[in-house]
Amino acid sequence: MTNIIDGKAFAAKLRAEIAEEIKRDGLKPGLTVILVGDDPASHVYVANKDKAANEVGINAKTIKLPADTPEADLLGKIAELNNDSAVHGILVQLPLPKHIDENAVINAIFPDKDVDGFHVINAGRAATGQDALVPCTPLGCSLMLKDVLGDLSGLNAVVIGRSNIVGKPMANLLLKENCTVTIAHSRTKNLAEVCAQADILVAAVGRPKMVKANWVKDGAVVIDVGINRQDDGKLCGDVDFAEVAPKCKAITPVPGGVGPMTIACLLKNTVTACRRIAN
Ligand code: NAD
Repeated sequence: MTNIIDGKAFAAKLRAEIAEEIKRDGLKPGLTVILVGDDPASHVYVANKDKAANEVGINAKTIKLPADTPEADLLGKIAELNNDSAVHGILVQLPLPKHIDENAVINAIFPDKDVDGFHVINAGRAATGQDALVPCTPLGCSLMLKDVLGDLSGLNAVVIGRSNIVGKPMANLLLKENCTVTIAHSRTKNLAEVCAQADILVAAVGRPKMVKANWVKDGAVVIDVGINRQDDGKLCGDVDFAEVAPKCKAITPVPGGVGPMTIACLLKNTVTACRRIAN
């Protein structure tokens, strides 16, 4: 029978463990989120991050800046937070207004406070097998995969999508777990056949219900990162859940799969950063 991976329950357990760790060890982790502009979705995400962080005992603050904030002012704010010993995690909510260079902003964050794991130093550390702050979404996927499968060694993993935020760091994490990893993308030929070889299939594309039953090997574990809004207003993933789920050993639903784990992993990264900076 297919195991529908309950990301909500998994994330609740992880958040409870983080809260317990903070209390037990007397940690005082601080997280500051910077939000530039008025994008309504970003405001919702940031409010959720703030609430989840404060609930586990992280001192979370949000700095809201107007949409026309000059890049230099944002960089100045980051420099202040880099030097603030009470702040262990700095997160700049993306996307940024068009006049600001996202890479310049991300790379201005002190790497050990880069709880999103997007800084080029963290990407490089992860790619070379060093301790790194890892992007929250792939970290959550990796935790769920290890929970379902235990040892991932030798398994064939296919990741669809090669973004810096999800696809590439996901592939690195799977490689670290000794999987044989294929990264598929928009130019991949015979995508269905490539996917059908996968023991682990991670879809991070942004195309509603793209992955069909004949793309999936019997007994595969499928992680659906995609979040797509359908015409009826409901959310769906990149995987056609109704037809794929019966073939799988386990699968994440959308919503309620990867999404809740992403925020829980931000809290985990903040505690990791707090411990590293304190040592
Ligand atoms: P992105 O647009 O940066 O990357 C999409 C990737 O998909 C690209 O690498 C591209 O090559 C590939 N792609 C596009 N069309 C394809 C096709 N027809 N066949 C194969 N590959 C194709 O997106 P992203 O930031 O990596 O996010 C991917 C999806 O995951 C989006 O739906 C996003 O909303 C979702 N997401 C969810 C969470 C979460 O917390 N659940 C977090 C981040 C992203």
